[in-house]
Amino acid sequence: MPLLQNPNAFADYPLDKAGARRKDTAWLNEATRSPAVRVAVFDGASPLVDEAGAVFLGPEAFENAVTIALFLGVGREGEPYFAVQRRDDLALPEGAVFGDLRPIAPLLTDRDASILGCAKALFEWHARHGYCANCGSPSAVEDAGWRRSCPACGADHFPRVDPVAIMLPIFEERCCVGRQARFPPGMFSAFAGFVEPGESLEEACARELLEEAGLVAEAVAYHSSQPWPFPSSMMVGLHARVADATLTLDRDEIDDALWLTKEEARAALAGGLLLEGGRQVFTPPPLAIAHQLIKAWTFGAVRL
Ligand SMILES: [Zn+2]
Repeated sequence: MPLLQNPNAFADYPLDKAGARRKDTAWLNEATRSPAVRVAVFDGASPLVDEAGAVFLGPEAFENAVTIALFLGVGREGEPYFAVQRRDDLALPEGAVFGDLRPIAPLLTDRDASILGCAKALFEWHARHGYCANCGSPSAVEDAGWRRSCPACGADHFPRVDPVAIMLPIFEERCCVGRQARFPPGMFSAFAGFVEPGESLEEACARELLEEAGLVAEAVAYHSSQPWPFPSSMMVGLHARVADATLTLDRDEIDDALWLTKEEARAALAGGLLLEGGRQVFTPPPLAIAHQLIKAWTFGAVRL
């Protein structure tokens, strides 16, 4: 349920997840036959969409066997939501196609993007975790897609979420943006790295800034978080005040970095900042939490 203001894509889940129903087989069976049921269909990690956005089918999506039916929750009118993998004999509505979620997410409503992002993350987890990590035996789907259990050793496995610290370094009145060699030419973003065992988010932030840019974090402030289903990250957005502006880049990770004033950052957010020498600089689109971190700072919404 959307509880707090959060500017991020995939962070507006509109359903009551109704976790207690995940083990309620009788209720789940009835829910799949309900005329009100809404079923997202996936081909692997790609959801069914059309020109108007996300496509949800009715109970016909469950006819014949389906491999995994994920129970996603209950909508405002009590309508149950599920996600299934496509079957060859399932008739698809005219104009509906399976699409890559990342490019189509900006075309969906925030709520539908959040529902499809959740289902995508779960399907990707199942696709990669068919065998028990403890003993190597094939594991079985339980709890309407929210757990796998191992019949051989009894271990339970739950969908994984990998936390990533993503941070915008700030020194006095400028912020620092960096780019990786794989980025499109001209795109600069926040710095990011997976949180490692044995460290807090603040420590992960400080370590990444030191490793990638030689920057020393003095204070860290939380901004917002974003489920990022590519395939299973949890982006934790931070602002970091750093001790000085001297950059020592790890060229294996960071190709280039720039310090921007608020005015420059606003221009970069809006689609393009032209630097001296004709160099064009822009940020990731609003879908990315990096965009929201930069935007929040340019509007003075950061206290460090
Ligand atoms: Zn096992």
